[in-house]
Amino acid sequence: MPRLLTSIIPMATVIPLTDVRGAASAGARDAFLREAACMPAAEGSPLPLDARGRALHDLRISVTDRCNFRCVYCMPKDVYGRDFPFLPHAEILTFEEITRVANIFVGLGVQKIRLTGGEPLLRRRLERLVEMLASLGHIDLTLTTNGALLAKKARALRDAGLARVTVSLDALDDRTFRAMNDVDFPVARVLEGIDAAQAAGLAPLKINAVVKRGRNEHAIVPLARHFRGSGHIVRFIEYMDVGHTNGWRMDHVVPAREIVAMIDREFPLAPVDANYAGEVAQRWRYRDGGGEIGVIASVTQAFCRDCTRARLSTDGKLYTCLFADSGYDLRALLREPYSDAQIGNAVAAIWRRRADRYSEIRTAATPRESRVEMSYIGG
Ligand code: SF4
Repeated sequence: MPRLLTSIIPMATVIPLTDVRGAASAGARDAFLREAACMPAAEGSPLPLDARGRALHDLRISVTDRCNFRCVYCMPKDVYGRDFPFLPHAEILTFEEITRVANIFVGLGVQKIRLTGGEPLLRRRLERLVEMLASLGHIDLTLTTNGALLAKKARALRDAGLARVTVSLDALDDRTFRAMNDVDFPVARVLEGIDAAQAAGLAPLKINAVVKRGRNEHAIVPLARHFRGSGHIVRFIEYMDVGHTNGWRMDHVVPAREIVAMIDREFPLAPVDANYAGEVAQRWRYRDGGGEIGVIASVTQAFCRDCTRARLSTDGKLYTCLFADSGYDLRALLREPYSDAQIGNAVAAIWRRRADRYSEIRTAATPRESRVEMSYIGG
């Protein structure tokens, strides 16, 4: 069981001697981590703010780097073929390690945990991990899935304590959907999964659709039409330059305002206030009461200013931005005799130095070679 974090509190701004700003080497990051872990706790708030004044509220945990789809924008087949070296089992965090580190993050202010992948439902006995995380209490526990295994798993996940799910679904017409997942998976089975999740009480469901120019912009209005009145919220996401294997170009992006205009022509929309500060999706409601949609304008209207998300990779590296090129090896601390308080010190020190705002400063010419892939870090 996870150890309680009371020993982390109180803490304050502690500046380790090793400066890693701009340091690319894993050695420098590792030295920073260990030094920060061993600094004495000082008086002050236990809840760190980063260099831009942003709190740490959300943790996304990737539980596997594997996926049963080969979506063209995420795990293209020519890169992730049969011989791709996915992480061996010994390198991925165990459920006990994930729960321990999640508990440490909760002590630093995290209120929402999202399980991601790869495809998280491929991780064996995932419901056991859900149960362990749910026992931490008072966190909003959710999961993003491609839906392929959801019909089979929805009830067990709900019973284990999962609150909600987000299902990735980029098109409703079978031909487009099969072409996008590139493993010929039928859309009907994802829709079955969505129905099963609703029946199990994993609501409100969110449906995430990544829109790529020339690929599936024709799917926007049918998706909106299909889920109108269902209580589910479709969120249309601008195609992003995550990783470096998806061949992203700026002209692949269908801007959020264009997406809203397309839907508004058929189903008039009105803007809705955000549920909370830092919500990534801009909300719109159907004027006739048919529910709401969201658009995530991650390219054309960056929301770094309110970004409160940290990401933990399958092998326990901490990333402070989706577009980071390197992470901090928390697994090393977890597998050595560091206490929860020390690991909490290290995470707080990393967060306090965070100044990420990639989407605000991106240009079409931004280099992408060394960036971490979404299937490894979670979206
Ligand atoms: S680019 Fe990085 S800092 Fe900006 S919103 Fe995305 S994850 Fe957050």
